[in-house]
Amino acid sequence: MQFQSVLDDIAAALAPELGREGKVANYIPALARVPAQQFGIALRTGDGEEAHAGDSTTAFSIQSISKLFALVLALREMGEKLWDHIGREPSGNPFNSLVQLESEQGIPRNPFINAGALAVTDRLVSAMDAKAQMLALLASLCGEPIDIDEEVAASEAATGFRNAALANFMKSFGRLDNDVGKVLDVYFHHCAVRMSCVQLARAACFLSRDGLNPLSDERILTERQARRVNSLMLTCGTYDAAGEFAYRIGLPCKSGVGGGIVAVVPDRLALCVWSPALDHTGNSLLGMKALEMFAAKTGLSIF
Ligand code: GLU
Repeated sequence: MQFQSVLDDIAAALAPELGREGKVANYIPALARVPAQQFGIALRTGDGEEAHAGDSTTAFSIQSISKLFALVLALREMGEKLWDHIGREPSGNPFNSLVQLESEQGIPRNPFINAGALAVTDRLVSAMDAKAQMLALLASLCGEPIDIDEEVAASEAATGFRNAALANFMKSFGRLDNDVGKVLDVYFHHCAVRMSCVQLARAACFLSRDGLNPLSDERILTERQARRVNSLMLTCGTYDAAGEFAYRIGLPCKSGVGGGIVAVVPDRLALCVWSPALDHTGNSLLGMKALEMFAAKTGLSIF
């Protein structure tokens, strides 16, 4: 398939819409000042073909896409035991909701809402230098050094009252082993990792290769774990819009409020789109449109 021309067509078709609709995340200044009129798309196939178009090499804040890689680190470390601490059901509530935590005794619904990612981070803090291991994993997957935007991390910490509430609430149920401040610090740094579409397409590619690193063939996850991570992305990866994503796009996806969305076509390729303006569900508006166009043009879908 001519992926490069597919991506070029998508970028050209969306160019007139750049910055027209949606709203850039504005809860911290470093995200609020990102110009909305940007769009990038990149993919990497399981056998190493790459294609990209638009602002595909511009680094952006990966935000909640980091939850995907934190989950991978935790599964590598503790396997199925992770699920003693975290559920696997879609929440149907906003990503930062406290409500379900109370009725479910401090056990978060899934690893991709904030409470779940904080519980995953707590596991990581117990086992490793979690900031360094996150960067090392990402660097090994995309073949170049990856860094953290310290300004974003500091702003997340300065304004993260709801995340602090979630972590303290879980701690009150005895669900976090580590110091709340330490867990939050690592979580905010993970959210503040910056990467481009090209780098994220490479980094997610192992999920389209039954868990094998695209660059080295090193096993990142077992085949079964990779399949299960894809299933969690499909059901829980896009805030409250997982149903809409499955309906319109039909691929496992993980999004972040920086405007990035990573998508996986199992056994074929990984894809990353980025455009900073978000819809009311917190997903990139043009990113979603681009994925929908990609699925329609290529016929690639898990359904
Ligand atoms: N740093 C954001 C938070 O924890 C992440 C938001 C997101 O991308 O969903 O609130």
